[in-house]
Amino acid sequence: MSENRITVENLTHNYGTRCALDNVSFTVPRGEIFCLLGPNGSGKTTLFKILSTLMPPTSGSVNILGHDLSIDTKAVRKLLGVVFQHPGLDVKLTVTENLRHHGHLYGFRGKNLNSRISELLERFDIENRSDDLVEELSGGLQRRVEIARAMLHSPQVLLLDEPSSGLDVGVRRQLSDYLISLARSENILVLLTTHLMDEAELCNRVGILDMGKLVVLGTPGELKAQIGGDVVLIESENCKTLGTAIADRFDVFPVFTENCLRIECESAHEFVRDVVAAFPDDIETVRFGKPTLEDVFIKLTGNPFVLEEDRRD
Ligand code: ADP
Ligand code: MG
Repeated sequence: MSENRITVENLTHNYGTRCALDNVSFTVPRGEIFCLLGPNGSGKTTLFKILSTLMPPTSGSVNILGHDLSIDTKAVRKLLGVVFQHPGLDVKLTVTENLRHHGHLYGFRGKNLNSRISELLERFDIENRSDDLVEELSGGLQRRVEIARAMLHSPQVLLLDEPSSGLDVGVRRQLSDYLISLARSENILVLLTTHLMDEAELCNRVGILDMGKLVVLGTPGELKAQIGGDVVLIESENCKTLGTAIADRFDVFPVFTENCLRIECESAHEFVRDVVAAFPDDIETVRFGKPTLEDVFIKLTGNPFVLEEDRRD
């Protein structure tokens, strides 16, 4: 039933000659937290702008809970709560003033508005900070106020562009917990973008974007299961030569990323023992562990998960 999902079909967006989104298709049901994970420049904000009706795509279609985005733009806007990458609160106003002002934009007034604000302050555990200026709050609390503000008109879909950027790991975790509880208890569809693996790990499903293409989509567990066994990271003064030597000697395919070699293998403790014995003078440090979403990205794209500037030179 299209009323219960977002369907993105063959979405393409070009800025002049630059292709920012390349034939992207996916579906997200209500109640799910869906994450688009990709490095800088992979097309996350472009997709976010199209979904939030700020920009029409070059081609392709989007249906949000039964409404075609290009035809029913007004109806779609009512369904959406939107949190932008760059903070949009007025820092010289208090928390309550920010929420009240936003409520007025949606036509809420008086008792209705006040009770909705109280409800949200309580839900996001910010009621004791309601009269503080936003500029006095920590980054994590400000993010919570932003989400509360986006939820004011009871949207069915919450879109967030890199909600955890700039927050430390503990606060990110807390924010994810709020989003998970929103999706569960109110059957809201939460779609967020991120370049942070730990944030993606907590979502129900993850789509990995690379240079405008959706490379893979699945639960974090499904994606990581694509990599058998363990991942070994080796640091060396001369990674490239060492990588070739290791590939010649063992049945593995070392990938050179960010000054180290990443190697998938069946059983790290045996491989590490053998590789250190074979190249005792060339290896500086060795680490190993279970695969992460970053390993999935590297395996599928052949590229390290790096900043846009590093990749387009
Ligand atoms: P992300 O949010 O994943 O960092 P963006 O969607 O912002 O990625 O950008 C995707 C690509 O489109 C990048 O190559 C970026 O430089 C380019 N891009 C983004 N916005 C514009 C714009 N307004 N004009 C031209 N190119 C743009
Ligand atoms: Mg972005």
